[in-house]
Amino acid sequence: MTDYAADSVLVLLDVTPGGELAKSAPGLLAAAAGIGTPVALIVAPDEASAQLAEAAGDLGAVAVLTAEPDPALLTVPAVDALQAAADLVQPDAVLVSHSIEGREVAARYAARARLGLAVDAIGVSRDDEGIVAHHSVYGGAYNVDSAVTFAAPVITVRQGSIDARAEVQTPRVEKLAVTASGKPAASVDAVDAAVVASSRPELRGAAKVVSGGRGLGSEEKFALVEQLADALGAAVGASRAAVDAGYVPYSYQVGQTGVSVSPQLYVAVGISGAIQHKAGMQTAKTIVAINKDADAPIFEIADFGVVGDLFTVVPQLISALEQAKK
Ligand code: FAD
Repeated sequence: MTDYAADSVLVLLDVTPGGELAKSAPGLLAAAAGIGTPVALIVAPDEASAQLAEAAGDLGAVAVLTAEPDPALLTVPAVDALQAAADLVQPDAVLVSHSIEGREVAARYAARARLGLAVDAIGVSRDDEGIVAHHSVYGGAYNVDSAVTFAAPVITVRQGSIDARAEVQTPRVEKLAVTASGKPAASVDAVDAAVVASSRPELRGAAKVVSGGRGLGSEEKFALVEQLADALGAAVGASRAAVDAGYVPYSYQVGQTGVSVSPQLYVAVGISGAIQHKAGMQTAKTIVAINKDADAPIFEIADFGVVGDLFTVVPQLISALEQAKK
């Protein structure tokens, strides 16, 4: 027996190092609201939990469970909290962000609780038999559905893939009693805060992304991509060829062996559109391609295409954007 709704969907919300809900929270809670009653789990220090619970309510959480992390241990405290929350709520599904931490927590929890795991979903729905996860696979070439045949599925949801937003709620907040499992965990000896040198949005989860490819020709000329990104307020990405050529670091790489993004707007500059690149960006809502080769595969998936020399087109685009801001 549980005090929680029979159609509860448990949602683990990531908390940023700055102590805010991660950008994945609105989409996760909206996805949960579409298939049941969203119950959020927030693992954060006690002093921050009231504010975070209110923020989760604003995003649609009907109930919020809070648990304290152990700052000296990675992942396992969140898995322990997820297990305690699921035991309490008895949800129909568990949704977790497909972030680096989220996917590790989800996988560990699913293995521990012997539940089915569906990863990198771009949507969820409910049919007569239960919860269904929707995925975009093989570089976006196929859409597939997955469902488990027993118990509640654990589903990781791709960041930025859910546009819907849930209605604001005034959540009931409960502090969760968590028993530490003592399972093996990586321990944190020291934390060095990385200095963020850029004021641009982070690539993963950004609403707009401008990516550059080998067509830029050099590290210096890649600055044009950064200028266009700044004019649009976008994050900067790159193809593997641009990364391999040393124009930008690997952390910029979009694609099968880089970051997967699902922004509202993706601008591909001097990128041919290889299948491995498309794998990381094909679910973008609007794709704009600028390429001098009219037969480049990127145009097959572009909503808007400009066939032309990027060194002519992009400066004109930047100047038009700047004019429009005046
Ligand atoms: P190119 O294919 O060389 O294309 C450059 C484009 O720029 C061309 O279309 C050209 O017409 C255009 N261009 C050139 N000059 C101009 C100009 N002046 N104006 C306008 N257009 C111009 N790739 C990824 O991106 N991400 C991945 O994660 C990834 N993972 C991979 C994993 C594996 C196992 C393998 C085998 C490959 C992977 N690749 C990945 C590499 C991928 O196959 C392509 O080689 C790569 O995406 C090509 O990058 P590109 O489009 O920048 O370069």
